[in-house]
Amino acid sequence: MNTKTKSSENTASTIKLKKPSHVVLTSHKNMVFRDRPNVNWGAATAKDRGPIIAATTALNTRNAIGSHGGGYTVYRALSIAAGKYSPDFKPDLNNTYATTELGPYPSWTRPDRMVSIDPWGAQIVENFSDYLNKGFAIRPTIAVTQAQLTIPEVVEKIKAGKIKIDGKIVTDSMELKVTKIAFEPVWYLPGVAQRIGISEGELRKILFTETGGMFPELVTRPDLKVMLPPIGSTTAYVFGDPKDLANPQIELTCRVHDECNGSDVFGSDICTCRPYLVHGIEEAVRTAQRGGVGLIAYYRKEGRALGEVTKFLVYNARKRQVGGDSAATYFKRTECVAGVEDARFQELMPDILHWFGIQKIHNLMSMSNMKYDAIVNSGIEVINRFEIPPELIPEDAHVELEAKRAAGYFSKDKTQIKKQDELAQVQGRKLEEEVAKKESRK
Ligand SMILES: [Zn+2]
Repeated sequence: MNTKTKSSENTASTIKLKKPSHVVLTSHKNMVFRDRPNVNWGAATAKDRGPIIAATTALNTRNAIGSHGGGYTVYRALSIAAGKYSPDFKPDLNNTYATTELGPYPSWTRPDRMVSIDPWGAQIVENFSDYLNKGFAIRPTIAVTQAQLTIPEVVEKIKAGKIKIDGKIVTDSMELKVTKIAFEPVWYLPGVAQRIGISEGELRKILFTETGGMFPELVTRPDLKVMLPPIGSTTAYVFGDPKDLANPQIELTCRVHDECNGSDVFGSDICTCRPYLVHGIEEAVRTAQRGGVGLIAYYRKEGRALGEVTKFLVYNARKRQVGGDSAATYFKRTECVAGVEDARFQELMPDILHWFGIQKIHNLMSMSNMKYDAIVNSGIEVINRFEIPPELIPEDAHVELEAKRAAGYFSKDKTQIKKQDELAQVQGRKLEEEVAKKESRK
């Protein structure tokens, strides 16, 4: 295998890659993972649970399938292949510790409460310094830092006097102060299987098949129970003191939001994602200002976890179908293209909430019945649910909203839920080609 490229040969920063003489198959027992520490998922302390070791530099001590970085694993591989990144690199974790120390909470030691993140992932240095000193390649999977946000819609509200500058949550320069926490996925496979309601063996087989055989250990190493899947991470934004999230007496306003790049970042008006997200942020800020705490959890599950290509195909199919884009056929079009209405699988979502020790959500800024059910079924109490205010619904998003209401999403005023014949009347914008066709017929 020639690992050098023309462009990288002359670069000063190029790292000489040792040509691997052979590939060590991790699927064979006794070949690798010889000295691995045991993982006792849900144990009472970090030391009893044991470190999760998934670094690719740690062949003999790895006790997990997959590697760090979620979907970025593949970019790291390309960077190494291009000679820009040393495959033996050891990170210097000095001063990387959390800006706020959180936990442990009782939920951290219940093996069924958190199955998709490592509760101890933010305290690697604190808990496993003995291992680190011996050279074990343990990496943090959770990071906690501080930030200040400037959000145009919120700035407008502040200017209009609808959100006040308090110097604590909202700064004099109209920025929002937050603690933000990034979570890398760490799956305890028996627990994930239990949430889906299938056997662990079945889950392993399907994961192996659907990743094109990417992780042979899924089927050959049933003794390895933890997997770092190549999927997106989750980010939590906390307004107010993050420690207050665990106190059920303190008012908590929360939005659990699934990524929608088209709306969240680029302001596309076909859905309610960005306006609902920003509304959630505003209410989180207001709650923090009156002595409560606000939480926005942002999950990388683009297009109902089907991805943007599928999503854009569905948009076209919706707009080109006979009768045009209508709330009556909203879910059906997704299923026709993707094979499923929604692939987000909300049952893993509450794990993040349990990491913060949340027991009660006073204000849930979400209409999704799937999210609500998952949260409540995980043992968290929800007091109030809030819809997106009607004045915030973008022009082309009524199709989505009315379809969701009719499908069982939360709606305070049940008389507003449209019947099947009324849903057909809720129409979306036409594609330009349709408009042009109409024009030419005139
Ligand atoms: Zn959206």
